[in-house]
Amino acid sequence: MSSDTTSLDELYQELIVDHFKNPRCHGALSDPTCFASLLNPLCGDEIELFFRVKEDRVQEVTFQGKGCSISQASASMMCQLFVGKPVAEVSTLVSRFAEMMKGEIPQGDLVQLGDAASLQGVKRFTARIRCAMLSWEAAKLSLKKLEREECTV
Ligand code: ZN
Repeated sequence: MSSDTTSLDELYQELIVDHFKNPRCHGALSDPTCFASLLNPLCGDEIELFFRVKEDRVQEVTFQGKGCSISQASASMMCQLFVGKPVAEVSTLVSRFAEMMKGEIPQGDLVQLGDAASLQGVKRFTARIRCAMLSWEAAKLSLKKLEREECTV
């Protein structure tokens, strides 16, 4: 193992632990435009996701949940990334994250994912991919509901 690889992995690991211990955008929104919750029975992870969207832009997005560090850190990184972004861009970022988990994302596009790029190593552990994907799947579900105007909270 080269020292370069080790230090990058360590950096990513630190970022994941930091988001897990000090989650960003944490808690429920009292007046969300859209809400979704998902479970990952394989690991026992739970994510509840709250979006407030105005004029096709994410004004606020928060999560609450419980589970392993990867699932919770991923949600924190994702919400931090989505705040202030247009809904269309959020939708693209959800696809990008899925591509990263499949190992199909061009290196140059990783930067779009912000801190969430630190989860790229998870793709090596098949059982944990679902943990990392959970909040992003909840986001996809929320956006789909929003599109169909099914968002009655
Ligand atoms: Zn998990």
